[in-house]
Amino acid sequence: DATRTITTVNPTTGIKLADYPSWSTEEVESALTRVSAAAQTWADVPLPARVERVRRLAQVLRDRAGALAERITSEMGKPTAEAIAEVEKSAVTAEWYADNAERILADEHVEVEGATAWIAHEPVGVILAVMPWNFPVWQVMRHVAPNLAAGNAILLKHSPNVTGSALLLEEVLAEAGFPHGLLTVAVVAEPEVPQTIADIIADDRIAAVTLTGSNRAGAAVGAAAGRASKKSVLELGGSDAFVVLSDADVEKAAAAAVKARFMNSGQSCVCAKRFLVAADVAEQFCSLFQSGVESLVVGDPAEPGTNVGPVAREDLRAQLHDQVQRSVTAGATVVTGGHALEQPGYFYAPTLVVGARPGIPVFDEETFGPVAALTVAEDDDELVRLANASRFGLGLSIWSRDEARATRVARRITSGQVFINSIVASDPRVPFGGTKQSGYGRELSIDGIREFTNTRTYWVA
Ligand code: NAP
Repeated sequence: DATRTITTVNPTTGIKLADYPSWSTEEVESALTRVSAAAQTWADVPLPARVERVRRLAQVLRDRAGALAERITSEMGKPTAEAIAEVEKSAVTAEWYADNAERILADEHVEVEGATAWIAHEPVGVILAVMPWNFPVWQVMRHVAPNLAAGNAILLKHSPNVTGSALLLEEVLAEAGFPHGLLTVAVVAEPEVPQTIADIIADDRIAAVTLTGSNRAGAAVGAAAGRASKKSVLELGGSDAFVVLSDADVEKAAAAAVKARFMNSGQSCVCAKRFLVAADVAEQFCSLFQSGVESLVVGDPAEPGTNVGPVAREDLRAQLHDQVQRSVTAGATVVTGGHALEQPGYFYAPTLVVGARPGIPVFDEETFGPVAALTVAEDDDELVRLANASRFGLGLSIWSRDEARATRVARRITSGQVFINSIVASDPRVPFGGTKQSGYGRELSIDGIREFTNTRTYWVA
């Protein structure tokens, strides 16, 4: 039965990689038993010992970086160097939590009269983590590293196209010495996903849920969590603005713009997607940006020197092309690219669309692939209006030689993070998350590890 099997395909060649049979109801049940038993064992392990295991996790990630990167690239097509970087960033994040979790989760003494009081940050149990394919290791590890330190267990529902990467992470955790089942990968195939995931969320053995993915998936999972009265964190889509003010260093901004849009073949939630440029510098920026886009090397992601690999799935490429075509129909202009590449695999030409504005699909919708949308604005006020004219509010990048002016502009635009004269990126030392339709809750840093702890009051008379 094809619907009960996940088949992974290499997007570079279109050739099948592996089949994974979907779990039966009994397998779901035994996984829930296994992961909740592991959660109880782990919660009893003292914090310093948990933290040392998380430090070991960083080492195992580094030891296995080659195998992990190869699996990532074959399953979703990112250039090998980017896959290696993703594993290294996961290791750095595990290390950051190994260095900081004891401080962040330490009991906090509170002065009260006639009693002793303190606040503890205790484990909550098993968290269901629903994850996307675009950073198959990093998305998982930025949730797993802090939560293992915090004393929780994780039931992972990964995207089907990266099932092999997910299963490799189970091996990594075993090698790092975590209890069996503490990270359990659920293999669930469509069309059963929405119901099975809703049932898992409702199960008493699940404490909370986190999802990184599209708004459609986030709305379904958030609703299921609400029905079960359980906490959720949602890291959803973005259509980040890259705002170039009239006093920007245009050469630097244009070079950064290429990276900001086309890393990971344009498939990152915080890829800059809408380029909003002040009229005074628009011509210079556009011409530099266009030549940067045209000089990108598209090809086999396993070859060193490749900048842009394929789009991860055929249906996603078709959806991206449809967005470009509808934008042209609505009045935008393609200045470079705008078509699939005639070769095996799911390649799409790096594309620049100009004349984007509200009402044009590449401006209104999230484009998840190598397509940049450019809009020219008169002044800072119009740039602010355009940046805010989106249902998303994840990251924001602003370019200006005047830091105070850039900060003033930033304060008027809604987003979860703002980077001035830099592209948006996550970092374990600072929190990461969205506003508006980009979701709620935070990952990374102090806020990230505390999302799934029980902040508990002790009061001893
Ligand atoms: P997706 O299609 O929403 O899938 C994400 C995960 O949700 C998958 O595991 C998917 O499983 C699952 N899912 C979908 N519908 C579900 C439902 N009704 N119930 C339970 N689970 C469900 O997203 P994607 O294409 O993998 O990833 C791209 C999206 O993720 C983009 O919108 C991107 O911006 C966003 N993203 C956000 C962040 C962030 O931090 N804010 C980071 C990375 C990516 P199935 O495929 O089996 O349905």
